[in-house]
Amino acid sequence: MNQSAAPVAEGPSKGMGQISLLSNDDRLKGRPRLCSDCGLCDSALKPQMTQACMFVNNQTDAIEQRLFGRSRGDGDELLFGCYRATYAARMRAPRPGAQWSGMVTTLGARLLERGEVEAVITTAAAPGTRFKAQPILARTPEEVLATAGNKPSLSPNLGLLDLVREQGIKRLAFIGTGCQVHALRAIEAELGLEALYVIGIPCSDNVSYPDLEYFLEQISRSPATVVHHEFMQDFSLWLRHEDGTVERVNYIDFPMDKLHGIFPSACLSCFDYPNALSDLTIGYMGAELGWQWVMARTERGEQMFEMLRPDLEFGTLTEGGDRTRGMPRFMERLNHPPGTGRPPLLIRKLVVWLQRNRGPRGLEFARAVIEMKLLRNLNHVRSKFERQESRVVPGFVYRALAPYAEHYRELFDRDLAPRD
Ligand SMILES: Cc1cc2nc3c(=O)[nH]c(=O)nc-3n(C[C@H](O)[C@H](O)[C@H](O)COP(=O)(O)OP(=O)(O)OC[C@H]3O[C@@H](n4cnc5c(N)ncnc54)[C@H](O)[C@@H]3O)c2cc1C
Ligand code: SF4
Ligand code: SF4
Repeated sequence: MNQSAAPVAEGPSKGMGQISLLSNDDRLKGRPRLCSDCGLCDSALKPQMTQACMFVNNQTDAIEQRLFGRSRGDGDELLFGCYRATYAARMRAPRPGAQWSGMVTTLGARLLERGEVEAVITTAAAPGTRFKAQPILARTPEEVLATAGNKPSLSPNLGLLDLVREQGIKRLAFIGTGCQVHALRAIEAELGLEALYVIGIPCSDNVSYPDLEYFLEQISRSPATVVHHEFMQDFSLWLRHEDGTVERVNYIDFPMDKLHGIFPSACLSCFDYPNALSDLTIGYMGAELGWQWVMARTERGEQMFEMLRPDLEFGTLTEGGDRTRGMPRFMERLNHPPGTGRPPLLIRKLVVWLQRNRGPRGLEFARAVIEMKLLRNLNHVRSKFERQESRVVPGFVYRALAPYAEHYRELFDRDLAPRD
């Protein structure tokens, strides 16, 4: 939260129906209507945007062929992306200030300590704020470690590629979200690097910083004292305050009428929740509460994981529940405009009980969340950017959602498969 007592926002900076991102921000003038501010267009590589941007020309299928030598397999890879190995793990000694246990920043620092890379692109907090993302080019392990913790707002990390070139860096590590990694992979060959190490964090429904402030104002009893927050696998948001107390808000209790319009259209048109083009994805949502979820995707990703292994303890990846039971109801809700208020308290209590006791858990939770976001975002593209569908929606999305094709046709009166 901004420490400089910024005025409290009266509403989201734009509506879901509005298609530009922070259109009143001069820096973003001239951007395409879909833009997650990944930073590429701040750099000298801006002319590559039409090829690299996943909202102009989504190349996930082609990049996967190049990176992995194959397309995604059926089953879990359709949702999680290609991977060689997956783990539930965490730092034996968690890092203070980390989002989870600090695996990401520890690894970034280690790559520098070992001389594997000369610099790491990572995301710090802008001065005077806790959560405003400010990418930095870290040259020392200490600088990387100081960027621990999420700044859950859009971050123009690729804008630092000019600095990488200016400083003559040939071996680089990049920590970032799926949209950033897509653009980075698309231009990788032109960067003249000897080595690129990509550590991906899963990401969904990111927001601009003003909208993050607005969100916390709506959700928390004390937004100014929130030091850490995370959307947990127990269907609630945990907000930790300066005094160490943890406030928990069930997802079903969110004031959705006030939050409508908070997410940028780009994030609602994004199909890479698990950061499938990274070398190593480090998140949490496929693991049990308290553990991190890791997917080593490439040989380089496996090498990085081995560098971290001595510091880790391992859990078990489990799964429970059946996501396919909830998906039809989710699709039916999507088919109706957002409600104007919350359901009655008793209903909400019942839903929370059902979610915690009967809902998907572990890997099934990750599958459920990814499937829902794929479907919601497909419908967002179809309703707002229909002419762009063939360029914005990668082919695997239709394969992944194929089990729901019949229900989709009944509900939305059109085929799930794209029109020719
Ligand atoms: C907006 C956002 C949404 C996320 N959603 C999910 C999710 O739904 N499911 C899931 O499993 N994981 C999600 N994550 C990732 C997860 O919250 C943790 O960041 C991840 O598991 C690493 O934890 P750690 O303790 O190892 O990281 P730490 O060691 O604490 O390091 C955190 C790293 O995150 C980077 N970072 C922080 N903010 C940003 C940002 N705005 N953009 C790019 N990089 C940033 C920092 O550079 C730092 O290197 C999300 C992260 C972000 C930023
Ligand atoms: S998402 Fe990135 S590449 Fe695409 S328009 Fe925005 S800044 Fe440019
Ligand atoms: S949700 Fe997608 S588009 Fe938005 S910041 Fe995250 S990876 Fe980028």
